[in-house]
Amino acid sequence: MIKTKIFNKNWLIEFINGDDSRLGLPEKDIVYAGLCVGSIRRIYIANDMIPDKIKETLIHELTHAYMRETLQDFDIKKSEEFICDFISLFGEEIINKADKILTQREWLFGGVIWAI
Ligand SMILES: [Zn+2]
Repeated sequence: MIKTKIFNKNWLIEFINGDDSRLGLPEKDIVYAGLCVGSIRRIYIANDMIPDKIKETLIHELTHAYMRETLQDFDIKKSEEFICDFISLFGEEIINKADKILTQREWLFGGVIWAI
């Protein structure tokens, strides 16, 4: 488990097995590669993917987390300009954070580590 701050709020990132029930909605026959759960400020990422896919999924879920902590109500499909602005403001920070988390994941053995 890795702790990180997103707009001064504590978030936990957990790398878990792809068949972990926290990544699935069995009743809907859906299994996710990653999941952002805003109500408990957690991100789950499936461990058993190629590194590029893990990074892609982590960036995707971190982007959800940044959106949850910044804007609550918007219609994403009508907001191309908003998405472009969002990425211009936060894209570099999100990707830098993903890189730090993945570096720390390499030497993580069950403890809790802060990724600034
Ligand atoms: Zn998503």
